[in-house]
Amino acid sequence: MNSRSAAIVARARKVMPGGVSSPVRAFGGVGGDPFVVARGEGARIWDVDDNEYIDFVLSWGPLILGHAAPAVLDALDETMRRGTSFGITTELEVDLAELITERLPHVEMVRFVSSGTEATMSALRLARAATGRDAFLKFDGCYHGHADSFLVRAGSGVATLGLPNSPGVPESLAALTRVAPFNDASAVRAIAREQPLAAIIVEPLVGNAGFIAPDPGFLQSLRDIATETGALLIFDEVMTGFRIAPGGARERYGVTADLTTLGKVIGGGLPLAAYGGRRDLMEMIAPQGSVYQAGTLSGNPLAMAAGLATLRALTPVLHARIEARTARLVAGLVASAATHDVPFTASHAGSMFGFFFQREPVRDFASAKGSDVTLFKRFFHEARARGVYIAPSPFEAAFMSAAHGDAEIDAAIERLDDAMRAARA
Ligand SMILES: *Cc1c(COP(=O)(O)O)cnc(C)c1O
Repeated sequence: MNSRSAAIVARARKVMPGGVSSPVRAFGGVGGDPFVVARGEGARIWDVDDNEYIDFVLSWGPLILGHAAPAVLDALDETMRRGTSFGITTELEVDLAELITERLPHVEMVRFVSSGTEATMSALRLARAATGRDAFLKFDGCYHGHADSFLVRAGSGVATLGLPNSPGVPESLAALTRVAPFNDASAVRAIAREQPLAAIIVEPLVGNAGFIAPDPGFLQSLRDIATETGALLIFDEVMTGFRIAPGGARERYGVTADLTTLGKVIGGGLPLAAYGGRRDLMEMIAPQGSVYQAGTLSGNPLAMAAGLATLRALTPVLHARIEARTARLVAGLVASAATHDVPFTASHAGSMFGFFFQREPVRDFASAKGSDVTLFKRFFHEARARGVYIAPSPFEAAFMSAAHGDAEIDAAIERLDDAMRAARA
């Protein structure tokens, strides 16, 4: 099976660590060999052995219009013929910055970068500069890219001092990273009162520890604690931005962050991310201010063109349509789990969804880890064998695109029902 994929993976492992350019692609979370992708169109991808999959990973979130969306391809085609990079401002950057600041009114100014990692790293630098404080708080299980300060998780139980979870991260730096359980405002309050924090950074809806929604009032509590203690509130919306609502977390939850990081959807499948927020803060960024941050390919015209085409297509009506289809798929999964007596909990927000193989609702990373990982692995492989691709890890969110029509949703519900039956057997 997958002979061409297997041959390419074998070559890849000799010249690339783990055979991949980013760890989760190696399928370590589910076992078995990863496939090598050949092409994508709409809701589907094909591997190099010509197996077809309905794709709910969508490049880990960016492709909200689906693969090879004509609007994006046309914009890229037109833009690339005028040159692919200049390292000088283009009008496309200004267009996209205006569009983002219009749709997200709390983002008064924006700086473009090339990855979510750069966006969060730079937002944290800005928060440290603006507050004159070094320590900050993140949540257990939240992923903010791979910059040193963020590669820290909590020890067991409640908040602990940071310990690095990758070799190479200096302990002295990790010690400035405080960690609290998601949805635990009192732990946050205790830490913020004990130590002056530059920032509280949070995925307003967690997508990197599985899909975990904030309890009502939790984000408002973070807002209040930040304001009371002089910390900045950073919403890391690299995954949720233009996904969970047209106006992101602010629209969905009614809470406004000081700084916001964006990525994934805003690049429409090209390397693009951004950070932005209050004008007085963003004016501290060089060259207007003294907080240094730069990038050779930042504001790349192809990325701008793909982002603009994507965001222009993404009307509130389209958002609502994708959300309705997401709800229908999630309802189908829940019904299948009930039929086959599988322990299961699932939910969605906008066009993002997630599920855990356990009966209790998940509120934080600790409870997420209580789900049945063995059952997930079997489900992943049964789904793959039936032509449905979900993330190869039990702790990732899933995504829907505008290209997933009713026919794809029906097919996915049917195949995943059978996959659940087989995984349970
Ligand atoms: C994907 C992601 C990042 C990192 O973005 P990259 O472009 O992979 O560097 C940061 N924060 C969140 C919430 C993400 O989902």
